[in-house]
Amino acid sequence: MRVLVIEDEKKVASFIKRGLKEKGYAVDVSEDGDDGLLQAKTNPYDLIVLDIMLPGKDGIYICRQLRKNNINAPVLMLTARDDVEDKVNGLDSGADDYLTKPFQFAEFLARVRALVRRNDGKKITILKVSDLELDQITHKVTRAGKAIELTSTEYALLEYLMLNVNQVVTRTMISEHVWNDDFDSFSNIINVYVNYVRRKVDDGFAKKLIHSIRGTGYILKEY
Ligand code: CA
Repeated sequence: MRVLVIEDEKKVASFIKRGLKEKGYAVDVSEDGDDGLLQAKTNPYDLIVLDIMLPGKDGIYICRQLRKNNINAPVLMLTARDDVEDKVNGLDSGADDYLTKPFQFAEFLARVRALVRRNDGKKITILKVSDLELDQITHKVTRAGKAIELTSTEYALLEYLMLNVNQVVTRTMISEHVWNDDFDSFSNIINVYVNYVRRKVDDGFAKKLIHSIRGTGYILKEY
C-alpha cells in the first residue's frame, strides 16, 4: 500500500510517515499544495492524507481537483481545529473522512485501515492463498499453520503479491505500490526482496507459491 501525505507541519508529517512505515506502508510526503497535487496526479496512491491549510493550493481545492480528474484514492483530511465548517467543506469536496489535530496514532491508523478496506470493496482482513495466510491487521503470516517472520518491507511486498494473486506483477507495479519515492528503480533491490520473501514462504515446501516470470516480474499462484 502506498500513501501520500500532504502536510506542511514537519512534525506531523514525520510522525505519520514513521508510524505508517513501521506498519509496512510506502509513504511519500509533500510539504506544499502545488507539489502535493502534482504528486497525487502522477503516482497511483492507495490513500492520500491531506491537510487543509497548506502553502500553495489548500486541501479543499486539491481534493476537488483530484475528484474532477477521476482520481478516486480515498482521502483522509486533517483539520487543525474542531471546526464544523472545515469538516463540511472537506467532505463536500470529496474527502472520505477527516481527523482533527492533534490525534493519537492508533486512531489515525484505524481510519487509514477502514478507508483502504472500504476502497477494496471488501471487509476481509485475512488474505489466503492455498495454505498461506496473511492477517492485514496483526500482520501475522503463516504457511501451513507455521509462523513466518517478515520485516516491514517483506510484509508489504508479500501483501501486494497476495492482493494480486494469480496475476503477473511487474517490477514497475511493485516499485509503485511497495516502495516510496526514495526508491532507485535501476537497482536490483526488488529481486533481492522477492528472493528473501520467497525463501521464507517457499523453502521446505514441495509446492511453490512465488514464481518469476522471465523479463516481466513475478506471480504468486494458487495451487
Ligand atoms: Ca497545515
